[in-house]
Amino acid sequence: MQTLSGLTASPGICSGKAYIFRAVDLSYDPARMESPGEEAKRLKDAFDSAWRELDGIKNTLSGSMGEEYAHIFRAQMTILEDDDFRQEITDKLNEAACRAETAVEEVYKMYAGLFSQMEDSAYNAQRLADLNDVCQRVLRNLLDREEITLSSLPPESIVIAKELFPSDTAVMDRKNIRGFVTERGGLTSHVAILAKSLSLPAAVGTPGAMEAVKKKDAVFLDLRDYEKALVYVNPGVEKQKELTALEKEYLERQMELLKMKDLESVTLDGRKITLSANIGSLEDLAAAGEFGAKSVGLFRTEFLFLKGDLPREEEQYLVYAEAAKKLAGGMLIVRTLDIGGDKEVKALNLPKEENPFLGLRGIRLCLKYEELFLAQLRALLRAAVHGDLRIMFPMVSSVLEFRRARELVVRAAAELREKGIPHKSDPPLGVMVETPAAVFLAEDLTREASFVSMGTNDLTQYVLSVDRGNEAISSYYRTFSPAVLRAVGLTAAAAAKNGKWAGVCGELAGNPMAVPLLVGLGVEELSVTASALPQTIALIRSLNFNRCREAAQKVLAMSTEDDVKACLQQCAWRDPP
Ligand code: PEP
Ligand code: MG
Repeated sequence: MQTLSGLTASPGICSGKAYIFRAVDLSYDPARMESPGEEAKRLKDAFDSAWRELDGIKNTLSGSMGEEYAHIFRAQMTILEDDDFRQEITDKLNEAACRAETAVEEVYKMYAGLFSQMEDSAYNAQRLADLNDVCQRVLRNLLDREEITLSSLPPESIVIAKELFPSDTAVMDRKNIRGFVTERGGLTSHVAILAKSLSLPAAVGTPGAMEAVKKKDAVFLDLRDYEKALVYVNPGVEKQKELTALEKEYLERQMELLKMKDLESVTLDGRKITLSANIGSLEDLAAAGEFGAKSVGLFRTEFLFLKGDLPREEEQYLVYAEAAKKLAGGMLIVRTLDIGGDKEVKALNLPKEENPFLGLRGIRLCLKYEELFLAQLRALLRAAVHGDLRIMFPMVSSVLEFRRARELVVRAAAELREKGIPHKSDPPLGVMVETPAAVFLAEDLTREASFVSMGTNDLTQYVLSVDRGNEAISSYYRTFSPAVLRAVGLTAAAAAKNGKWAGVCGELAGNPMAVPLLVGLGVEELSVTASALPQTIALIRSLNFNRCREAAQKVLAMSTEDDVKACLQQCAWRDPP
């Protein structure tokens, strides 16, 4: 037996047979070429067939996984349609009198070189990944080789790959897949997001997987731990028995948990915790409904803006209004546009920044581009007529930013009033606590805002000064650092002083080890990935609030993350028997 370890990108436990996914062989003899005219024709044909393949995938996706994934392929089709890109390959073909394959590869290398000089952001990484995907597709068509896809898998497959691109997973045979192991990729990689949305276990950042695992090997994924992923390859009989029993128990528990999806999330001693879902689109909202979501604590609206053209007020209004109606009176917290940092909106053509995470991000960007912000605010105020819509501002670091944002809400309402457009002029306004400044100012902010929600993904990044997207320093990104937990405690206490509620909408909110602690620290609302809703309800219903409070005080006095974790594992959060 071999045991590999990686990072848990999507929790769970499963077993199956290894399906080794290797890229198709794209080797060729560069000296064997046709006439220049013939090479140009081959190139055109390959571009056309690659475009048709992508169009096919995109159309299948629009109906199944939703727009969110389809837009990835639209982006790749745009690369194929880009005249400059095509011209560059044609120029290379003419200059070097080479094979079309060589011209494609050379142009790709040139772009990869350019990207390596750009800042190392997740967005640039995604653009390069898309370009790589497109070039591989053109090459394969040029070479007339069969596509190796995940579209037809043997039953109970666990896909082992170096890396998985969107085009690999888009056509994936979902009914036969049990889980994923990839050598590369971080917690925010494409496969991580996909696996979560399909509720399948996935281990990413698992070095040596391609070397260690062979076709049809028995593979067991034990990803119950939210940090460390364990991958067992051909375990012995005893270990297999143990893992199979654990898997059975885990699945039975998930089925049991699903039955709780409509129960109230209240502790044994009566403390009510509002449990909401995080969504990024209407498709996510529909999926969240399956897990019993009654409210949304974080609607990330960036997705609407990352697709290409900026969405108009009307387009935004329709989306927000639909979400509000679907929730039928349930709370819908919409976060205003949170771009900058690692999220770039091409249509805005913003200048490059040396330090984008400390740059023009979130509310700062919206206050600079007032028209863009006002259009979103008008759409939100109009949609607020259809339900309990609340507006939340990201990356706030001063009270003045909140006041300025509030003034713009008032202006947006006045504009609508002048035009006689139905709207709600004063929905509750909240602040995301993601910066240390917002923690220290939480009492001041909650004097004026109706609520706060802690974005612990960013809060951890800024409190610990560690780039959340940099895999190389991921060991410094300490989820349970006492510094971060004290920031949470301070914020919750400050909000309570002003009679306002404090929530958490970062990943920490769905981590079972953190939930009792957050409850004990006075957090009143948790917004989590939809599939984590049932287990979080069950967990809250098993807690004793007073015990959580006592334990939280103990945790706040600890100096190291190790001590915190050890304490959280031993704590008795429930009533004594
Ligand atoms: C966060 O920072 O915790 C958060 C919820 O926002 P995002 O992950 O979108 O930055
Ligand atoms: Mg954030």
